[in-house]
Order: sequence, then C-alpha cells, then structure tokens
Amino acid sequence: MSGGALPIAVRELTKRYGQATVLDGVDIDVASGEFLTLLGPSGSGKTTLLMILAGFTRPDAGSLRFGAQEMVRTPPHRRNLGVVFQSYALFPHMDVAGNVGFPLSLRGVSVDERRRRVRTALELVRLDDFGSRRIDQLSGGQRQRVALARAIVFEPGVLLMDEPLSALDKKLREQMQIELRRLHARLGMTVIYVTHDQREALTLSDRIAVIDHGRIQQIDTPRRLYERPGSHFVADFIGDSTFLPVSVIDGVARWQDRVLALADPPAMDGKFLLVIRPEKLAIVGVGAAGGGNRIDAVVEDIVYQGDSLRIDLRLADGAVITLNEPARAARIAALPARGAAVGLVMDPADTLLVPAP
Ligand code: ADP
Repeated sequence: MSGGALPIAVRELTKRYGQATVLDGVDIDVASGEFLTLLGPSGSGKTTLLMILAGFTRPDAGSLRFGAQEMVRTPPHRRNLGVVFQSYALFPHMDVAGNVGFPLSLRGVSVDERRRRVRTALELVRLDDFGSRRIDQLSGGQRQRVALARAIVFEPGVLLMDEPLSALDKKLREQMQIELRRLHARLGMTVIYVTHDQREALTLSDRIAVIDHGRIQQIDTPRRLYERPGSHFVADFIGDSTFLPVSVIDGVARWQDRVLALADPPAMDGKFLLVIRPEKLAIVGVGAAGGGNRIDAVVEDIVYQGDSLRIDLRLADGAVITLNEPARAARIAALPARGAAVGLVMDPADTLLVPAP
C-alpha cells in the first residue's frame, strides 16, 4: 500500500470555549510522510487540535491545509484521513473483516477489491488469521490493531491517532510502539499522534511538538528536544531534571563561585538554570583530577531499581540532585557508601542552560 502522503500546514489556529482560549495561534508544518507527535500535559489542547485536524471541531480562526487544499470547512469524510482514537469504537456486531472493510464499503469499493485490501491490512497489523473472529473474542491489543487496520485500509494520506495505546499495559504498549514505527516506515503516510507520555513520544516520532496552555512551546527531533530544550518548561516536562541557578555575566557562566565550561554557551548574559539529567553525571573521588564541570556532594541515598541504581546526592547548599548508574556488578562494587563525600563531573557537552523562567 502507498497512500500518497500529504504535507500539513497549520497556521494561526485558535479555538476558544467561552472565556478560555484552548488553542492560541498554533503554527505547525508537518512534512509529507513525517511522524509528528503532539506532547503536552493534560488539558494543554492536544485533543482539541487533533479534532480540528479531523474535522470534528471548527476553529475560531486560522487555516489548515493538507497538501495544497484548505480544509477548515471540509467535512470529516471528505478529508481522506485515517483516525484511531483511545477507545476503539469498533462495531461489536461485525467480525474483524467487516470492521476493517467498513471504510471501503462506504467508498463503494467492489467486494473482491475489498477482500484483497482487508487481507493486506490485517497482514500489516499481524492479524492474518483473525478476519472471521468477533470483536468480543479479541484482547485489548488485538482490538487496537483492528482499529489501526481499519484506519489504514483505504490508504489515507494522513493518519491521526489520539492516545491509541493508553488502555494497554506497559509491555504491550511498548511492543505496539515498535510495531507502529515499523508500520509507518513501511507505509510512509503522514502521522499526527497525540500522547502525554514523553517516552512514547521519544520512541515514535520524527519530531515532537510540545504544547502547553494551547501554545506550541518547541518543535524538534526527540534528541534535540531532550538535549537542547529551549525553556524550563520543556526541560522539566521531558526527562527528569534538577535545576540549579546560574548567572551569566560578560559571557562567563557561574554556579555559586564555580565557573562552568559550556559547549554551547548562551548568546546573552542573564539568569539561567543549569539542567542536570540523572544520566549525564559521573561520580568521582573528592579531589580527583580531570576535566569537566565539578560539583561537590554527599551521598544521601542509593536505591537499587533492577536495571539501574538511583543515587540521591546533597549539595552544600541543601539542593538534592539525582543520578543514575547502570546496575553492572563492577559499578555497584565501586560505589561510595551512604554519607560519603564525592565529586560529580559533567562533560561541557552535557552542561546545558535554559533561561530562568
Ligand atoms: P488535552 O487533550 O491536552 O488533555 P483538550 O484539548 O482535551 O486537552 O482540552 C483543552 C482544554 O479545553 C481543557 O481545559 C478542556 O477542559 C477544554 N475543553 C475541551 N473541549 C471542550 C468543550 N467541548 N467545551 C468546553 N471546554 C472544552
């Protein structure tokens, strides 16, 4: 199947409910065949934006184009979209093949062609032999696959998904994430995906749009978003962080009286926060030689978590920062005891500042 993926351009999209502005001048460009995720806390406007894309909600202002065509006034069934929502919305009285073939019946596709396409769609979601099963004979993961097959069976240029995996348990969810990646690589349609789960967003997406209070805060690749967040909000929302106050004067960054070496220093002086990610710090002995930015600390707690150890460290000013160590035997044997004074070292390439809010 190849659906003729379409680029999407969202301009100045605004939606109000009464006094509340739920979407506030949203601009997004999605390239043809790109997998873009809308990520944000609950109530940030993700579903509203997706509903506008799908045509179920009318915006108060702004424009929405799929390819060259303006869509704001186009009804949902004319948008040629595949849609998968949180609740499966399958027809319980039809079998799997009936559900998957439904969009084709609506489009007047012949019976033979329908049978062929349903088979292909079911193969793609690995339900080859499930065509004659009833929906209530399927597990949650299988139902979600049926919903996905139904959304792609007519080869839409755009696929919209709203938290499609949130009802599944962790293991199945992670497995389905990898399957969705494969499916997207194979079919190449443009995808807009909504989640509040940052790990899911990082796993699936070509790019992520972080949204808060109806505004896009940053759009970037997963790696740039994690490693170069542009604001305190994005750094705090994606990944675990501790923040320490830093001032930059005449281009020199200082935390307390320590000068910080930065691979990517800010262009302007001012107040900033040092973003400390748990995996970017190394523990060294007090007074050990070596480069990088050093902070003195005392080990407060060590928690074994199976794949890693979480180590809480207290700084002289009382701030607590958290570090992760992979749980390899040699590392565990070499760890300092609770109460020990240690040095923490961070590579300048991992030493990141964001503007203080
Ligand atoms: P998210 O998907 O990020 O959780 P939503 O888009 O569902 O956020 O909601 C954004 C905001 O808009 C919320 O404050 C929500 O209460 C409000 N909202 C959504 N739909 C309606 C509606 N039909 N009427 C009034 N308020 C709404």
